[in-house]
Amino acid sequence: MPYKDPQKEHERSLRYYAEHREKIKERARKWRAENLERAKERCRRYYYNHRDEILAYQRKRRKHYAFLQRKRIEELKSKYIKEKGGKCEICGYNDCIAALCFHHLNRESKEKEHESQLNDFDLSKVQLLCLNCHAEIHYRASQK
Ligand SMILES: [Zn+2]
Ligand SMILES: [Zn+2]
Repeated sequence: MPYKDPQKEHERSLRYYAEHREKIKERARKWRAENLERAKERCRRYYYNHRDEILAYQRKRRKHYAFLQRKRIEELKSKYIKEKGGKCEICGYNDCIAALCFHHLNRESKEKEHESQLNDFDLSKVQLLCLNCHAEIHYRASQK
């Protein structure tokens, strides 16, 4: 029986849900299957009424994934930099990993050397350079 006290009623419904979770889920699944159009309509209405919250949540989630991705790349990059001696192979610069990069040797194509490609990486075929030395190498190559 529902309680008059909203707090008690809330606790009761939580308890009820915990005890009957499978049955409730099953009933909801069945209702959805039999009332597909209404279910879709409810979903649309829910989206319409909670649009800002939903979009904010999605934005937050996207930002979080981007953060994880950046962190993963950064860790991988640090690891490779360490393995390649930790400094620019031409001038010895070693201050900031953001200013160090991997120059691909023997690469014919004009493919961009992008950090998101750190995954398939053959360390023996790259040179660790600072951005200045890297830019110079590419500039000279383009002048030939
Ligand atoms: Zn390069
Ligand atoms: Zn350098």
